[in-house]
Amino acid sequence: MPSSSSLRERVVTAAERALKQGGSVGPLELLQELGFLYPGHVNDWRKGAPQYTPIEPRIQCGAAKLAEVYRLFAEWAAAKGMKTVEAEYSRRGVGGVAALQVTADGNDERERFFRTHYASAELSEKKTERLQQKLTKAPDLVVFITVADDAKCSECGVEITPGEFLFLEQQQPLCVGCADLDHLVFLPAGDTAMTRRAKKHSPLSAVVVKFNRSRKRYERQGLLVSSEALAQAEDECIADADQRAARREVAAVHRVVLDQRLVEQMTAAILNEFPHCPATEARQIAAHAAERGSGRVGRSAAGRELDPKAITLAVIAHIRHVHTNYDSLLMRGVDRQDAREQIRGSLDTVLSRWRDS
Ligand SMILES: [Zn+2]
Repeated sequence: MPSSSSLRERVVTAAERALKQGGSVGPLELLQELGFLYPGHVNDWRKGAPQYTPIEPRIQCGAAKLAEVYRLFAEWAAAKGMKTVEAEYSRRGVGGVAALQVTADGNDERERFFRTHYASAELSEKKTERLQQKLTKAPDLVVFITVADDAKCSECGVEITPGEFLFLEQQQPLCVGCADLDHLVFLPAGDTAMTRRAKKHSPLSAVVVKFNRSRKRYERQGLLVSSEALAQAEDECIADADQRAARREVAAVHRVVLDQRLVEQMTAAILNEFPHCPATEARQIAAHAAERGSGRVGRSAAGRELDPKAITLAVIAHIRHVHTNYDSLLMRGVDRQDAREQIRGSLDTVLSRWRDS
């Protein structure tokens, strides 16, 4: 049968190519290589885009032919004596890491088929372990720098203007405040040691990308990390360099540019509204909210006018991240709304303690 033998050839060629590229090949890589599954759809599915979840219905191939593809794929793997590596698919969202379903019906056996990858039989124990980690790893959280059009936060309605950060949650734009990423600071790309260390120390981090219109692709701009992680990474880089000059250089590159007057005004406004807030924390909240280009409340029009509501929001965000276990709830995968519910009591306690005069 010429048609079946040519399909076998196509499957073998695609499997070999995918194996060479990724170090392993599973059904989804094979189907992409064969042109039966669009890589863009797979990428969106990995990010949790609802219209591509589950991904199986996106496979463009008739049932009979698809069954034959899977049979030929298994035959190829068996003939080569390939090693199997199972890797769960997951995605990273604001609420933590969640499993991703491949099949429409969630059938255990078929889910398992899709998460089974083939790798070379000669792969060492150590390399197999590393491969499995790579396959299981959820993609990074991604934050976009808006380029052309203004967007509106789907939760609080604030305008997200070009140059500001935008987060997509199930395809809906969120400002960094509503995405609960506003306690993170921006570390520009370029210093690999700093980037690696800051990411390692940060309990929550996100990759910042920006669309390059002439090249028509997203380019990495840097990382959002916690300010504590950034400070720790700086310390380590300075310890390495072991030079005062290096300290100055590192500090100059990474020091956040602040609008000092705005910080002073905001600190005063916070203390006016919350007289029992420790002064150091008021200043910390103000400095944080006033960071340039951050899209935080401090830079919004309301923040500049020192609107009491904007001030309160900045204070609430600070209390959540510093005085409650909110961040660790998010990291454990608790849904954002549930996490807010759980910490409401401790939040209110601190708020009223700071407010009471
Ligand atoms: Zn918002």
